[in-house]
Amino acid sequence: MGNTGGKGLSLARRLYTSRTIGLALGLVCVSVAMYPLDPPAWVWAVMLINGAVWPHLAFQWARRSPTPYHAEHRNLLIDAFFGGFWVAAMHFNPLPSATTVSMMAMNNVAIGGVRFLLAGLAAQILGVGVGLVVFAPAFVAVTSPTQLYACLPLLMLYPLALGWICFRQAYTLGQHKRELLALSRTDSLTGLLNHGAWKDQLDSMFQRCKRQTQGAAIALIDIDHFKSINDTYGHVAGDIVLRQLSKMLKQNLRSTDVAGRYGGDEFCVILPDLPLFNAAQAMEALRERFATMVYEQNPALKVSLSIGLAAYDPAHADATRWLNDADQALYEAKAGGRNRVICNCDSKPRHELLDSV
Ligand code: GH3
Ligand code: MG
Repeated sequence: MGNTGGKGLSLARRLYTSRTIGLALGLVCVSVAMYPLDPPAWVWAVMLINGAVWPHLAFQWARRSPTPYHAEHRNLLIDAFFGGFWVAAMHFNPLPSATTVSMMAMNNVAIGGVRFLLAGLAAQILGVGVGLVVFAPAFVAVTSPTQLYACLPLLMLYPLALGWICFRQAYTLGQHKRELLALSRTDSLTGLLNHGAWKDQLDSMFQRCKRQTQGAAIALIDIDHFKSINDTYGHVAGDIVLRQLSKMLKQNLRSTDVAGRYGGDEFCVILPDLPLFNAAQAMEALRERFATMVYEQNPALKVSLSIGLAAYDPAHADATRWLNDADQALYEAKAGGRNRVICNCDSKPRHELLDSV
């Protein structure tokens, strides 16, 4: 309900602008067409209310409604009804009538597609019917030059205004789409790529290495005994450590390196165009720097990292095998006593193991 309300309110605001402009210009067009017919005072009054007061009433009506979207639907039908009514009142004077009908059709189709277009058309026909009852049926076959000029502002300015409003809306929607896409790829705690987004990057890197016979390394980084940090200092302190590590990754890696949060206390990095030896050096430096930084900030807190590294190997059937090598290296780092960097270069690949799964 809240969502429909928000959506309806933004529709009401957009329509307020387009209705105010459209009906003010329409008032010029209709009143010049009506002038030679010498209508009674009440017709002038209704014309003035419809052209200059109704847009503000309609907006307030929709704004105060619990369902502004539905209120605007009703307002659009009222717009269309009066459009038809003025067409009959103008005795179907060709240019002002066609201008009124087509501008309303453009508005309705832009806002609600074919459904609104058809609903608006039905309301217009009803308006014409009421107009024929109120005014004697007649037909003015020729539009005078003055009437033609009075239609021009509506014909020229209203499509411009509506086009601008539609463009603004499409632009805002595009922006929201980009923001949502970025959010869906980001880990909310650390601001790094999340698991899925990082895996996508790994797949791309794997394909690139395969195509260009280029090297790259990946690292899986896991905080040692992280559970005990949570247990001893609380989850908030644990979160701070996770953020510190992600900050260090952002600050110390090259701009081409791709860091992500694999999940929990495990992080992952793609190091393109880097031989395994250099990648190991970079990870070793990171391990030491992180331990020092945490110690300097809180000497009571001892945090270390275990890191598993794997180089791209053309023998890998897919990126998962590559990742599995890094996982194997990380396992060995943990098994070997933690707080260390292990490359999978010497470890036996686990292809056989995977093939048997
Ligand atoms: P090991 O040295 O073998 O890696 O031990 P560990 O305690 O680090 O490993 P384990 O997988 O047992 O514990 C990871 C812990 O990370 C468990 C979980 O409660 C915690 N954790 C996962 N996500 C978050 C998070 O977003 N914030 C915090 N504070 N803790 C988290
Ligand atoms: Mg851990």
